[in-house]
Order: sequence, then C-alpha cells, then structure tokens
Amino acid sequence: MRCEKCGRPATIFLHHSQQHLCKRCFKRQFEKKVRRANREYKLFHNNQKIVVAFSGGKDSTALLLVLKELSKNMKNFEIIPVFVDEGIKGYTDKELGQVKKTCKELNLNLKVYSFEKFLGASLDQILKRRDELGLSERACTICGTFRKRILNEAAAELGAKAIALGHTAEDMAETYLMNTLRNEYNQFLLFGVRSGIEEREGLVSRIRPLAFIYHEEAELYTQLFGAKYYAPQCPNRAEAFRGVARNFIINAEKKYPGTALKIIHYFSILRKELLKCKKEKVALKKCKICGYPTLSEICNFCKLKNKLEL
Ligand SMILES: [Zn+2]
Ligand SMILES: [Zn+2]
Repeated sequence: MRCEKCGRPATIFLHHSQQHLCKRCFKRQFEKKVRRANREYKLFHNNQKIVVAFSGGKDSTALLLVLKELSKNMKNFEIIPVFVDEGIKGYTDKELGQVKKTCKELNLNLKVYSFEKFLGASLDQILKRRDELGLSERACTICGTFRKRILNEAAAELGAKAIALGHTAEDMAETYLMNTLRNEYNQFLLFGVRSGIEEREGLVSRIRPLAFIYHEEAELYTQLFGAKYYAPQCPNRAEAFRGVARNFIINAEKKYPGTALKIIHYFSILRKELLKCKKEKVALKKCKICGYPTLSEICNFCKLKNKLEL
C-alpha cells in the first residue's frame, strides 16, 4: 500500500477515514487537525499559559505531545501539565509514576493536586463513605464533579487562561448524544470544543484540542514519539448511561466510519445557530455556598460535598 498523500510506502491505516498514510504524512495531518480545531474555536494562542489535564493515558499523552510540538512555532506559550490524584489505590499511584516520567522527558514542570488535600479524603475513602451513607451516586459522577472543580482551582491558582482536556472525537460525540438523550438543553449549550458561552468570572475555559482526533490517531501519535502511556482502565469505571452512547458510536463507526465527526459538526453548527438567536445568556446563578457560577441555587460540587458529608 502507498501513502495517499505522498506515494511512499504506507505503514498506517486509519479506520475512521479509511486512509493509508506514511508516518510523516500522518504526523502532519494530525497536527493540522489540531491547528484547525484551534483556528475554528480559538483555543490557545501566543502569550498564554494553559493547564493540560494530564492523566498519563494515551489521549492526554497525545495532547501533551502535540501541544509541545505546536508550541515550537509559538511565542511565549506555556504548558503546565496538571495531574489530579484521586487516590485510587493500585491505579492512580501507577498513573502518577508514568506521568512523572513523561513530564521529565518532555522537560515540563508537573503540578500534582490531590483529592486528599483538596477534599480531605481520597476517592477510595469517599466511595466507602457513599456506601455507608447508602447513597446511589456513581463513582464516575463523584470523581468527575470533584476533578472538574480541582482542575479549575488549579488553573486559577497557576494563572492559566484555559484547561486543555484530552477528549477525542468519540468522547465529544458521546457527550453530545448523552445531553440529547437526557434532554439536557442548557448543558448542551454550555458544552463544546470550547466549553462555556463566554468568559465567566471564576470559570476557566475548558478546551478540547483533540476534538477532531480519534482514539486510534491519539494512540498512533504517542507511538511516533516512542512515548509510553498508562493503559489500564479505571477500576471504578461503570457509566451506565454514557455506556449506551459510547456503544452507539462504536457500532456506528464500524458500519459508517466517520460518524463521530459528523455528530460533532452537526451539534457544533446547531449550537452556534442557537446561541446566535438566543438573546439572553444561559442564566447562570452564583452558588450560595461557594460562589461558583451554576445553573441552580447550589452548584453540583457543593451538593455532592454536602451529601457525602465532606
Ligand atoms: Zn506520506
Ligand atoms: Zn458551590
């Protein structure tokens, strides 16, 4: 097989786009897609400091690598990898080991924030408490809500203007579908390649530079650099509803490659148009407890914290 771009022998086949590529053209195409996401959604730029949520998995490793690569042609662009240590015995400790190695190799100054320090309890302890209190919240909901707040606090503390997340095309499509299936209209308006509608006081923008990148590409990209990543899945992973959306995307991709990207483009256009004709902003209130912007009286973070008696 020949590379469809340059005619040299192809060593890479991408399922979602049915492309045969050589390594050089693959790398170029990958970076082009990230630059395109950046151009279309204004994610990051010169004279800026951003936090990268780095878990050591393949997607966030690819994100760190590509940002580092693109930063070579940028001025005064600082990348700060942040690792949130949830405290899952036998899992996050191993993740952290890999994260430290990668950051050292890339010569990046890693910052570690832990559940233990921020909440006074590790996720393991929190889940134990949940069971003792007879609560039904899923591990991923608890973990995700707390992680999100810790990342925001970390970014604010470090003076970063954005938090880059390693969410790929499949992850994005999943969230769009989930919000649709659950009729989460406001959530839908707030979610995107760049989350939020405009800069809100107290909230750091969440950006997804890998929005047009598939998992398979992220994995291949890390391999190009010979970078290692931590592969095992989180032991707490059991997302009943997200799983439905995920399986839909996986099955659709098998039959109709490129479906995830189509979902992203469709919802991005829809969101843009809806925001244009929406005269008022999505009404965000200030949480009565912590003061963070929220859709209800009390933010999800505080609700959860209270429930769990943290
Ligand atoms: Zn080529
Ligand atoms: Zn709150």
